[in-house]
Amino acid sequence: MSDALAPWLQQQLSALLAQRGHAWLLHGPSGLGQYRLGLELVRAWLCETPTPQGACGQCGSCHAIEVRTHADLCVLMPETVMMALGWPLGEKAQADIDDKKRKPSKEIRVDAMRDTVEFSQRTSARGRGKAVLVYPAERMNNVTANALLKTLEEPPGDARFVLASEAAHQLLPTIHSRCLGHTMLWPDEASALAWLQQQGVGAADAAAVLRAAGGRPDDALQFLQSGLDLKTWSLLPRAMARGDASALAGWAPAQAVDALQKLCHDLLAGSVGGAPRYFNPADLPMASTAALARWSRELARTARTVEHPFNAGLMLEALVSQARNALNSKA
Ligand SMILES: [Zn+2]
Repeated sequence: MSDALAPWLQQQLSALLAQRGHAWLLHGPSGLGQYRLGLELVRAWLCETPTPQGACGQCGSCHAIEVRTHADLCVLMPETVMMALGWPLGEKAQADIDDKKRKPSKEIRVDAMRDTVEFSQRTSARGRGKAVLVYPAERMNNVTANALLKTLEEPPGDARFVLASEAAHQLLPTIHSRCLGHTMLWPDEASALAWLQQQGVGAADAAAVLRAAGGRPDDALQFLQSGLDLKTWSLLPRAMARGDASALAGWAPAQAVDALQKLCHDLLAGSVGGAPRYFNPADLPMASTAALARWSRELARTARTVEHPFNAGLMLEALVSQARNALNSKA
């Protein structure tokens, strides 16, 4: 796996570094590299010998970030995300989780925000200012968002902020107005395919997995890392038409809903003569537009509660049954 910054992210990094701004909001749909771009931006800000292209990768500051112990960098993330991305939790939080007092939080916690506010008021340890990276910013609730807002409104001297979001519409409008916005760019297909191959994806699979991820390279990689295989993906439409629940066996409910929303999207597009985005057209059965529109609304309802399903097994069964009805309905 190559660690070089993808060319479309490098281009955005140089453009951001050429501008001033103490708070950036990087936004766009998932899978376009918000986290990586945010991290590269703070790395460049803190680097001792930065270039217009970014951090040097060699200095003490770059090294400190690499080993996740930079005194002037604060990453504010849900605990589950910190763990997945290899950032250490605070001592207390880690002890609570180790002692099974609670589970790692999927939201950005109020105590973590308090630590961040305190961090931003301290003086910089290495003398190059301080940086706060918030990701995914939409996982702040109103209390944490308001605490951050105060800090953004009265920037405490030498702290700079990057908020990276995959659902910026969920952020308070006041957060938007306090940040400079940057809309994540989509890579063209050839660059995305080349990048996937550098990450070790076979040439034959790269195009199919990029399609399954709707053209978003990070999501494509995640697709393969989450254990989904392309054969299951291509058989999914027919399996759903048969009501074959085994096709979704072992899937997390959120993953299943996401896949079915993509399937429904493609079938709806096909039913009105449009091109599918996620599936190979040859894998898609025909279905009625009205039934698909109903199914799309059902899926949207389910998506809102999918993080807390009453019973994951029952939810998958219900999803398959809805899918079968939609795919076999004549009107
Ligand atoms: Zn450096």
